[in-house]
Amino acid sequence: MKELETLQTWLDESSSAVFFGGAGVSTESGIPDFRSVDGLYNQSYKYPPETIISHSFFVQDPEEFYRFYKEKMLWLDARPNAAHKKLAELETAGKLAAVITQNIDGLHQAAGSKVVLELHGSVHRNYCQRCGKGFDAAYMKAAAGVPRCDACGGVVKPDVVLYEEGLDQHTLELAVDYIRRADMLIVGGTSLAVYPAAGLINYYRGHRLVLVNKTPTPYDARADLIITGKIGEVFSRLRA
Ligand code: NAD
Repeated sequence: MKELETLQTWLDESSSAVFFGGAGVSTESGIPDFRSVDGLYNQSYKYPPETIISHSFFVQDPEEFYRFYKEKMLWLDARPNAAHKKLAELETAGKLAAVITQNIDGLHQAAGSKVVLELHGSVHRNYCQRCGKGFDAAYMKAAAGVPRCDACGGVVKPDVVLYEEGLDQHTLELAVDYIRRADMLIVGGTSLAVYPAAGLINYYRGHRLVLVNKTPTPYDARADLIITGKIGEVFSRLRA
C-alpha cells in the first residue's frame, strides 16, 4: 500500500514523532470503544455511557455507576496488541517521543512505552475519597457494589476523568509541548469527538499529520496522510 510506504519513510526520518490515540487503539485487545458500547450494550443500561460516567451521576447513583464501570470499563485480562507494541519499539528506536492517549486501560505501559501521557487518567489508580489510600484495579473489580476503603470505609474513586471533570493541567501542558515540537503527529483509533482532548491536534505545526482510523473523522480534511484500516494490522506492517 502506497500510504503505508509513505508512513514508513516519514517514521524513518523522524526523531520526535508523537502518537495521539483513543479507544480504537485497544479494540483489537478486546476492549470495546465508546461508540460500540453505545450501540451494543445500551439495552442493559437506562442511560448512555456519557451520562453514567459523569461526575454528577457518580455522586447521585454510585451503585449504577460502578455496575457500568466494572462491566464495561475494567478489562483486566486485556493484553497489548500490535499497535501498542510497535509504538513501544518506535520509542526505543528513538523515533517516537511520546504517546498521548485518551485511554484509561494502561496497555501502552504494559507494552513497554515509557513516555505515556494519560489525558483521562487510569483504571489502575484508585483512591479513597476520605483518607486517600490507594487501591489497584483488581480491588475495584472484586468489590461487591460500591468499592469501599478497607481502612476507613470511604468510597474509593478511580483516577479517571469523568465527564464534567477537568483534565489534569500539567498533563495537558506536557501534551501540548510534545505536539508543538513533534516532527510528525500520528493520530489513531479516535473519533476525535471528545474535547478538549481532540483540540490538541491544533497545536501541531508540521506537515506530517497522519490519521489511522477505521472510519472518517472531522479532521480528515486537515490530514497529510490518511490510512483507513485497523490500527493493529497497520502497525504490525511497520518497521521500528
Ligand atoms: P471513540 O469510541 O469515540 O472512537 C473510537 C474510534 O476508533 C472510532 O472512530 C472507530 O472507528 C475507531 N476504531 C475502532 N477500532 C479501531 C481499530 N481497530 N483501528 C482503527 N480505528 C478503530 O473513542 P475516543 O475517541 O477515544 O473517545 C471515547 C472516550 O472514551 C475517550 O475519552 C476514552 O477515554 C474513553 N474510552 C477509553 C477506553 C479504553 O481505555 N480502552 C475504551 C472506551 C472508551
